[in-house]
Amino acid sequence: MSVQVLTLGGERQTLSDETVEEIREIFRGTVLTSDDVGYDEARIIQNAMLDRRPGLIVRCTGAADVVDAVKLATDRDLLVAVRGGGHSIAGTCTTDDGLMIDLSAMRGVWVDPDRRRARVAGGATWGDVDRETQLHGLAVPGGVVSTTGVAGLTLGGGIGWLHRKYGLACDALRAAEVVTARGDIVRCSASEREDLFWALRGGGGNFGVVVSFEFEAYPLGQVVWNGLVVYPADAAAEVLPRWRDWASNVPDEVTSRAMFWSLPAMPAFPPSVHNRDVFITAALYAGDPDEGRLACRELAELGRPLADMSRAVPYRTAQSALDPLFPKGELQSYWKSVYLDQFDEEAAAFVVRVGQNRPDPKTLVHAPLLGNASDWCLIASVRRPWLVPACGRCR
Ligand SMILES: Cc1cc2nc3c(=O)[nH]c(=O)nc-3n(C[C@H](O)[C@H](O)[C@H](O)COP(=O)(O)OP(=O)(O)OC[C@H]3O[C@@H](n4cnc5c(N)ncnc54)[C@H](O)[C@@H]3O)c2cc1C
Repeated sequence: MSVQVLTLGGERQTLSDETVEEIREIFRGTVLTSDDVGYDEARIIQNAMLDRRPGLIVRCTGAADVVDAVKLATDRDLLVAVRGGGHSIAGTCTTDDGLMIDLSAMRGVWVDPDRRRARVAGGATWGDVDRETQLHGLAVPGGVVSTTGVAGLTLGGGIGWLHRKYGLACDALRAAEVVTARGDIVRCSASEREDLFWALRGGGGNFGVVVSFEFEAYPLGQVVWNGLVVYPADAAAEVLPRWRDWASNVPDEVTSRAMFWSLPAMPAFPPSVHNRDVFITAALYAGDPDEGRLACRELAELGRPLADMSRAVPYRTAQSALDPLFPKGELQSYWKSVYLDQFDEEAAAFVVRVGQNRPDPKTLVHAPLLGNASDWCLIASVRRPWLVPACGRCR
């Protein structure tokens, strides 16, 4: 069957059976139309609210496939979306009827422990990076969910559990290999195509398709101290300002965040917190776990906790602990966030008010404290996952 693919001008271009076959011949990766097995699996992204159906999906296996996919798009003037880990809540990695250039099969990670460098393919996830770097007692600052894509997170900045010690993911970027809109493959770094390199470090997608990233990797043992103390949500008016004051004065090794949430009745959580509205204070110590235990002990002294789940854990366990709470393609999500230069009393009272009035148990109000190696102060973000079909409040 022929397929129709949307052009930049908004018209539908028909690709005959023969043309689709010719396109398939070009690529080493899979070319999928809506009639193909695997199409639905390939089009699903993290946010279930964005149930889009690309006209054509090219699942690339390497830089040559990406170059040919970009050329296919430019030759035919096709509307394009580039997909890495698929975690964009806004759904910018997918398109209705356009061409999806899908890098999610390109997940290689190569570590040079002597130079402390990690080269990461454009569709890898942070779980892929952590697995390979930790083999050498190294880590690249990434995110807090292991299934998030390296590409989108790095291109957008990237905060995680190491940012107060080592900065954002984009701060650790040393070079990138990029396919431009002309289909050229170029390298950029602090000394080559500096403008492009500057743009990639926080400017988001759209400056080209990054086929590989080269990161500086930092020393981090395989076991870290993970502070995790749960308070009742209605104690937050007292606990949150104390957490803020504590977290603002800890050593650089401590990255801390606070969250209003409702924890499900999962075996990973003690019954005292099951299905309750809670205020969570969490921290990760980027260094010796015994030092971390001492540095984070006050987390449990900010009020009367419901549970103290702090412990030494493998870094990779800490990095994937939240994964089960973010299943792919199941939560209909709407997120918004704001940077605050100062986390003063007014801002603290606002975060408490929003946190204590969440519209749904799955709504997460999240306040990661930045500072030190990461330049800013606080991001207060509200993540609203909805399990019901898209509702008016989300729009
Ligand atoms: C469950 C979850 C947890 C998250 N946790 C964190 C966190 O801890 N810290 C944080 O900073 N952010 C976090 N985020 C936000 C996340 O970093 C962004 O949504 C990011 O854009 C996702 O990147 P991706 O590659 O997975 O997504 P995608 O949706 O695939 O891509 C995101 C954007 O980047 C573009 N893009 C993707 N790959 C490439 C490429 N190779 N070259 C050029 N452009 C490309 C896409 O076109 C799209 O515009 C989280 C998101 C989710 C859903």
